[in-house]
Amino acid sequence: MAGLCFEFSEEQRMLEDSVVRWAYDWLEPQMEHMYEIDEMPADLFKQTAGLGINGIVFEEKYGGTAMGYVETTLAYESIARVSNALSMTVGASQTLCFDNFRRNATEEQKMEVLPKSVSGEWIGCLGITEPNAGSDAMSLATRAEKKGDKYIVNGSKIFITNAPVADFFTFYAKTEPEKGPHGISAFFVKLDEVKGKGFTCEKIKKWGMRTSPTGLLTFEDMEVPEDQLIGGLNKGVAVLTSGLCTERITLCGCTLGSQRRCLEDSLRYAKERVQFKKPIASFQLIQGKLADMYCDYKASRWMAYSAASYCDSLENKTGGKGTDLDRVSAAALLYCGEKGTKIGLDAVQIHGGYGYCQEYAVTRHFLDQKLWEIGAGTSEVRRIIIARELMRDDFASGR
Ligand SMILES: Cc1cc2nc3c(=O)[nH]c(=O)nc-3n(C[C@H](O)[C@H](O)[C@H](O)COP(=O)(O)OP(=O)(O)OC[C@H]3O[C@@H](n4cnc5c(N)ncnc54)[C@H](O)[C@@H]3O)c2cc1C
Repeated sequence: MAGLCFEFSEEQRMLEDSVVRWAYDWLEPQMEHMYEIDEMPADLFKQTAGLGINGIVFEEKYGGTAMGYVETTLAYESIARVSNALSMTVGASQTLCFDNFRRNATEEQKMEVLPKSVSGEWIGCLGITEPNAGSDAMSLATRAEKKGDKYIVNGSKIFITNAPVADFFTFYAKTEPEKGPHGISAFFVKLDEVKGKGFTCEKIKKWGMRTSPTGLLTFEDMEVPEDQLIGGLNKGVAVLTSGLCTERITLCGCTLGSQRRCLEDSLRYAKERVQFKKPIASFQLIQGKLADMYCDYKASRWMAYSAASYCDSLENKTGGKGTDLDRVSAAALLYCGEKGTKIGLDAVQIHGGYGYCQEYAVTRHFLDQKLWEIGAGTSEVRRIIIARELMRDDFASGR
């Protein structure tokens, strides 16, 4: 009788081993300092290119390795065992920006852009959120007005991961505002062509996710050639939604890596730290926390990888409103995000006063984890999506 397979393949394990080894050897020694000065390691994307994870789902003709979203999530989990923030930075470039571009751009556009992302030459960023359009993304106010063979862009974007260091930027703007969501289009720009010419970026200071640079962008009569539209005029919502499910699923990897690290470090610390002449691991109140952390991590992993595996099984690997993948992916990130915060809090508690100081990795992981209840759609928005898809007439409770 065939059973359910809960194991990674040999190839997936090799990928995990190589990324984890690199993260501990190359990233770990720099993290405390980089977190303090809030700087991304300069060679990060060249390094991830060397690991073969920049174009992990891209077809080989673009230089990619043609793997799936399970492998992407696993790569992000492996980086996040050392840095949740840098795993998010890699995900923002490779999944949010370049993978969604791959889904929607023309062949000519892809041949020009994707190999540069795979090699690590270009870092990408994606701009949806605006100061007055967060959860209600469709109310965005950035305007792109056609003048001859160009669009003139005015407006702003906020909280854009990688913007301060990026080379390539995909974003959404209203091309026909009177049409509401049906008047939104997607564009790309090469940032060295617009810097100082109507484009400015200000780095935002954050208390968590440090090392992952975040920008506030302003566009004042920024010119974008008309052939830099992605997916056609007024097709922005289709472009945007085509990437949301894979974004939510793969970003679960960021929180999973931190969950695992918090559990491992807490276990080690609890066995070493002696109070009342005993290791604190011998106290049942500490054991209870460790047991809960383990269960939450195991359940989060199942939610994330079963969603990734389901996505990989679909022909077009895409979701959107009215699909099971929409519910499954929102549920995975909702669960991983909330459990991640709880595990981070427990890890700090087990480390006592030392957990409140910067030299322990659990402190960074705890600060980073909270983002996953906010970024990529908040927990509230994810619950709204899950409930909407549960109430569909054709909902079948098996998945
Ligand atoms: C570090 C970081 C990195 C980010 N990276 C990117 C990026 O690369 N690109 C990008 O485009 N965006 C990015 N974001 C933006 C992120 O996606 C938004 O912050 C998020 O979507 C929420 O929007 P908001 O912050 O405006 O909150 P709001 O939408 O103002 O929400 C405030 C609160 O109200 C709740 N709320 C809103 N509407 C409802 C409702 N209908 N029912 C119940 N509750 C509701 C929310 O859940 C939240 O708790 C990033 C954010 C951060 C902090």
